Amino acid sequence: MADWQIPPNTRAIIFDAFDTLIEPDPPVIDVYRQTGLRHGCDISSEKMVRRFREAFRSEEQVDAAGGWKVSEERERERWKNIVSRVFGGCPALDAIFAELWSHFAQSASWRVAESAGVVLSGLAIRGFVLGLASNFDRRLHAIADGLTALSPARLRIVSSEVGWRKPSPQFFAAVVTAAKCEARQVLFIGDRRDTDYDGAIAAGLRALLLDPDMKAPSGVRRIGSLKELLTSGPV
Ligand SMILES: [Mg+2]
Repeated sequence: MADWQIPPNTRAIIFDAFDTLIEPDPPVIDVYRQTGLRHGCDISSEKMVRRFREAFRSEEQVDAAGGWKVSEERERERWKNIVSRVFGGCPALDAIFAELWSHFAQSASWRVAESAGVVLSGLAIRGFVLGLASNFDRRLHAIADGLTALSPARLRIVSSEVGWRKPSPQFFAAVVTAAKCEARQVLFIGDRRDTDYDGAIAAGLRALLLDPDMKAPSGVRRIGSLKELLTSGPV
């Protein structure tokens, strides 16, 4: 039995997309490495992982310094900067970036997380409004359209379209507006403590952390898997 319940006044359940409902398949670094090799750029997976993490973190620091304000251009620039850093010194950088951009725009490059489809349809039957809320760009629409298991999640809130990214209060205000209810009636679920869980709570939403490795400290409301959403009904 889980130690939490879906709050009884919940009307909407909104999910983070990446590593909550969908995952890259094959993994990001495998795709980066194969793309690089096709262009004569041989960088080890270990080095790529390290560079990717550093670049991802430093791009987040840029956004944090800007108050989390973003745009379609900024979201594209973020990935350009990350790819540039991962493939530093490789002459075919522009071609590699173009290939990676279009690879990750396709739904076939993603898979729906285990049990996500069953959980979404089960929650839809119980009458919850469901949606995706992601720090990403407009590619998310084509990706989600192509993954039929996500179809019960009718709402989509994408940072490049909102103009703000998680964890900004403006992003979560856009989530609440899309859900057409009060902030406290929205349950937000994601895999990141800072952007998803803390951001949602600071904006007055309810939140659950998807925490399969049980890393969260006590006091954080967590689930080990999405399936727990079906076994813990409203109190
Ligand atoms: Mg995520």
